[in-house]
Amino acid sequence: MAKMTYRFQEGKKEWKDLLGGKGANLCEMTKLDLPVPSGFIVSTDACRDYLAQESKKLSPKLIEEIILQIKHLEALSAKTFGIGDNPLLVSVRSGAKFSMPGMMDTILNLGLNDQTVHALSAITGNVDFAFQCYCRLIQMFADVVYGVSAENFGVTPTGTKSEKEWQQTVQNYQKIYAANTGQSFPQNTMEQLIIAVEAVFTSWNNQRAKVYRRLHNISDALGTAVTIQQMVFGNYSADSATGVMFTRNPATGEKGVYGEFLLQAQGEDIVAGIRTPEPIRKLAETMPYVYDELLKIATQLENHYQDMQDVEFTIEAGKLYMLQTRNGKRTPQAAVTIAYNLMKEGIISTETMINRIDEEMIEKLLHPTFTKEARQKKAIVQGLPASPGASVGQVAFTAESAKEMAMQGRPVILVRNETSPEDIEGMSVSEAIVTSRGGMTSHAAVVARGMGICCVVGCEALQVDESQGVAYFAEGQLKIGDVISVDGSSGRVYRGKLPLNEATTSAVLEKVLKICDSQSTLAVYGNAETPRDIKESVKKGAKGIGLARTEHMFFKANRLKMMRQLILADNPDKVNEALSYMKEEQKADFCQMYQILGELPCTIRLLDPPLHEFLPQEKKELREIAQDLAINSQEVLTKAQSLAEINPMLGLRGVRLGITRPEIYQMQVGAIIEAAIEISRKEKITIIPHIMIPLVGTVKELSLIKKSCLEVIGAQFKDSNMNLPFNIGTMIEIPRACLIADQLAQIADFFSFGTNDLTQLTYGYSRDDAHKFLSTYTHNAILPSDPFQHLDAEGVGKLMRFASEKGKEEKESLSIGVCGEVGGDPASIQFIQTLPVDYVSCSPFRIPQARLACAKAAI
Ligand code: PEP
Ligand code: MG
Repeated sequence: MAKMTYRFQEGKKEWKDLLGGKGANLCEMTKLDLPVPSGFIVSTDACRDYLAQESKKLSPKLIEEIILQIKHLEALSAKTFGIGDNPLLVSVRSGAKFSMPGMMDTILNLGLNDQTVHALSAITGNVDFAFQCYCRLIQMFADVVYGVSAENFGVTPTGTKSEKEWQQTVQNYQKIYAANTGQSFPQNTMEQLIIAVEAVFTSWNNQRAKVYRRLHNISDALGTAVTIQQMVFGNYSADSATGVMFTRNPATGEKGVYGEFLLQAQGEDIVAGIRTPEPIRKLAETMPYVYDELLKIATQLENHYQDMQDVEFTIEAGKLYMLQTRNGKRTPQAAVTIAYNLMKEGIISTETMINRIDEEMIEKLLHPTFTKEARQKKAIVQGLPASPGASVGQVAFTAESAKEMAMQGRPVILVRNETSPEDIEGMSVSEAIVTSRGGMTSHAAVVARGMGICCVVGCEALQVDESQGVAYFAEGQLKIGDVISVDGSSGRVYRGKLPLNEATTSAVLEKVLKICDSQSTLAVYGNAETPRDIKESVKKGAKGIGLARTEHMFFKANRLKMMRQLILADNPDKVNEALSYMKEEQKADFCQMYQILGELPCTIRLLDPPLHEFLPQEKKELREIAQDLAINSQEVLTKAQSLAEINPMLGLRGVRLGITRPEIYQMQVGAIIEAAIEISRKEKITIIPHIMIPLVGTVKELSLIKKSCLEVIGAQFKDSNMNLPFNIGTMIEIPRACLIADQLAQIADFFSFGTNDLTQLTYGYSRDDAHKFLSTYTHNAILPSDPFQHLDAEGVGKLMRFASEKGKEEKESLSIGVCGEVGGDPASIQFIQTLPVDYVSCSPFRIPQARLACAKAAI
């Protein structure tokens, strides 16, 4: 096997596969000449090799390499490992390719034993410091190697003691260690190091790491690297500290460093969230020169990595050391703001900005907030706003009960003193997380932000007693199952259910999406027919309406009655009465639509569903309808029976309806044209009606309906003394239509792919029943995913490519859209981009994601 250890000088940031994220970035910072304590990395190759072996022992070759690396560290630091007057101590940390905060293990102060602790005490002149470090090593070692929890050792000893007292304490620690592990604490420091490396490798497969990987789609096969680095001590003296810092605010994305530090503490103290740290700006008062250096480094790192960084640092006796840097986890809001600002600052390109934002972030960003009035309500506790959002749910005090409640379909809010990596599963199913302790970088805060879950930490007025299932606050208590509302943006927690506001787009997102539009070649339209949804579509940035399903307009009581009259009428007068009623109603709808949209295009589809969908199933209800419409009830029953279909999706619907009941389409076309004329006149604009025929499968169907439309339109223009441009097009949603697309293009002004029906008919899967077997299919990898959600490029997509290419070849001016569900799906958009298609059209709530996806597909 090739070499398995690398010095910091040897690696670079691109080697994350081999050195893990932490290791690769330590190498990079070393290359940048930043103050990084020296060290080396045991590679992920070595980890995989170790995990594959039965013996679960480091190979002799690896041990040999580690010994040589330690020798090198000794030479660099002029210290000696395990012996001598000036002992070398190291930290041993895990570091996988993808950061897994708190999931794997760390050991600090390794290299101390009964001898070197005295040497450290002597050389630092600080007996308390040296022995504290030793106690901590024993406790961490027991924890990481043998899973003995820290509580067994009681509270970490602090304060001043005589050397004798300390020796007593250490002996106690060693006794506890031996009692819990069945071993004595190893005095050979090389043995300590080898066991520690083995333990870190093994921690790759601990339960919480596995769960974290599953939740974040990280492969189990990667393995972790181990970073071994010379210790620097944040707990060394009064002018020592440890801290974490984001180069920008990870919750909001605002510019300016953001973080926390603890004086006289070691790194783990911050992450564990046990002592509440100071905000970083306080460092400007305590150690201004260090603060300035830190700011300089923040800028240097951001420029170098071209992204917001999350750094760990230690100050030892007034000197700053960098221990880690990585791209910081952030909320969706921060992600969008940071990407936009970095682009504005010239650090990244427009393309990079677009690629940095993902569709899921937008979805989360558009989460609701509590109403302004609701927010005036008195909060029961107030903490730090660790991850924004607004959530309502029932209180659970343990990850276990959170999981149980979530399984019962109850929205859960996990309330704890602090969270630990074991809680990860419970956290992931919660609507929000509230903790009484910890700062903005505590475990709860970091994990919640990564998952986009609303989170409030450090609610100091809250005291959680999980064994009793109760939490106390100044004016009362919370019990399991109580409903609370959590505002992750203000840090306030309220009792009861607060009303929520519909989510609104942020100003920055608006700007980003405008930039996206300028990069896209596909336009995004909305599928909408009600005034509310049309307005929403326009607000979300739709360039028009690609599909208005007119059948959705008939479900109001009176209209439904008239529709039924039209279907069931026993004489022409009743048919005409129903038609003229519906024409007026439809016209009013279309006027409203045109009024909202102005000259933005609006594609109105003529009636599509089988007529029996407008009728009830039950005989009793049919009789009532007969009575209501004054039609012979036997006749109604017979008509209803004759309309019933065994396979209605393949029955009398779409254009077939237009052919068999031409008066319905004629009525609709009349209403469309009258409305367009009326609003064009009124608003002094030119509305171009786009009339769409559904479910066309033959040339003759389309030509017949087009002819009948033209007659109505001609008459209408004549009557009103006004002409408007107009388009008549067809849905392409039957495989046969794809195959004869060239002929259809001779007649149609536009095509719109109805991928819902096209998928249904291409696969022969009923779109209403396929869910019953699709999960089995995807689970067994028979299908990669649900083709109704993610376009099947291989099959359905092939038909679409054929049809769109043939269509455009035949008629260059033919406009082509996709208006099925997949029109709003990022993965499908990626494929649609490869077709000669002009726009996608989707539900209003998906429009922002689709705009982003179209830009990504184009660049
Ligand atoms: C389609 O079939 O994809 C389509 C958009 O029409 P509908 O869903 O109304 O059948
Ligand atoms: Mg359809």
